[in-house]
Amino acid sequence: MRRSASLLLLSLGFATPIFAQNKPTTTPDPLITQMVQDISEKNLRDDIDKLVSFGTRHTLSDTKSKKRGIGAARSWVESEFRKYSKASGGRLKVEQDTFTIKPDGRRIDRPVVMANVMATLPGTDPTDKRVFIVSGHIDSRVTDVMNATADAPGANDDGSGTVAVMELARVMSRQQFPATIIFVAVQGEEQGLYGSTHLAKRAKKEGWNLVAMLNNDIMGNSSGHDPEIKDDKRLRVFSEGVPATETADEARVRRTLSSENDSPSRNLARYTRLACQQYVPGHEVVLEYRPDRFLRGGDHTPFNQQGFTAVRFSEMNEDFRHQHQDLRQENGTEYGDYAKFMDFPYLRRNTGVNLATLASLALAPAAPENVGVLTANLTNRTELKWEAPKAGEKPAGYYVLMRETSAPEWQQKFFVTDTKADLPHSKDNYIFGVVSLDAEGHESLPIIPKPVR
Ligand SMILES: [Zn+2]
Repeated sequence: MRRSASLLLLSLGFATPIFAQNKPTTTPDPLITQMVQDISEKNLRDDIDKLVSFGTRHTLSDTKSKKRGIGAARSWVESEFRKYSKASGGRLKVEQDTFTIKPDGRRIDRPVVMANVMATLPGTDPTDKRVFIVSGHIDSRVTDVMNATADAPGANDDGSGTVAVMELARVMSRQQFPATIIFVAVQGEEQGLYGSTHLAKRAKKEGWNLVAMLNNDIMGNSSGHDPEIKDDKRLRVFSEGVPATETADEARVRRTLSSENDSPSRNLARYTRLACQQYVPGHEVVLEYRPDRFLRGGDHTPFNQQGFTAVRFSEMNEDFRHQHQDLRQENGTEYGDYAKFMDFPYLRRNTGVNLATLASLALAPAAPENVGVLTANLTNRTELKWEAPKAGEKPAGYYVLMRETSAPEWQQKFFVTDTKADLPHSKDNYIFGVVSLDAEGHESLPIIPKPVR
């Protein structure tokens, strides 16, 4: 990711005045490397076993028992968050954010009080209002989505996402980040994305500067079924192309420029792939250029619908014998979402991709603002201009990212310290983006320039 500016100069074959001499660092941040190493496979395994021990975590299940049902499971996650909070000197703020859902004629048959279990690590820079969210869903189900009493272990769906969030909270709350990170186990996914919808609407209503949301759902099993495919080296990241909240004016520009492959969520997905390359060696993020699996949605969807940048992490190959299934033996096959079908080293690496992404983003300065590509004259050059972010740390410089229009990923980047660039590459043939970076090389998400005169 951090290719040096001099290499890029060579690849261009000539120099232009935009290239500054003081190159940013190109090495991984040892702090992030250390945090990724601190993710404990044993903790992930123990936490899954504990979640499964609540019998069912169905959204309509018991909330009074201390041992069984969604209420007991929520209380336990909250108590774990409180342990991490103590270890963080009380900086990690823990709450159950409760809300009531009325009968919906579908999967909610009576008024239900739900709760998202949240741990918030406030940013250390009071001027930096950026927020990042990472989620998994705590609820589970069996074949009949209304069955709230049968055992529904939900080890992988979505114990995997829930324990990843818990382990991220444990490791990251010992460190300091200028921006705020929210670790959340949302409820009600299986009944209709209720917890994530509540949180996305709250973020919108309260005007959070929510920069990115990472949804982890079904990411701890590495063996697919029918066909049998074992793949413990790759993780899928789903991202929307056309933003759900696109206006008519934005649609006109998008059609003119064919920028349907450059939504903020798509560029967040590209960012996760680079974070994985840098901090989880041997592992790979596979970019899925669609919002979710075929005709399906997840907890990132309500965030997209509220206009936020959000993606979904899921394992490479699912095994549907161990998802949404009554526990049973049938023709010699065992059905049910048990921990024994999971791959914990794989889950640990996938948790590492989340950590590398979140830490890189939360340590980076905010993205540049008002990024524009000048269109006053017809030329074969590309002139870009932007403004430094108004809040938080001042960037040490910027990268201008570039790729051919048919390329799926960024191909080149140019380091500049100014807030403008004049590139000898035609905007007719390339797509550009601009990112902020600090002296250590932490990069913001890229901003795609808008045409300006
Ligand atoms: Zn799920």
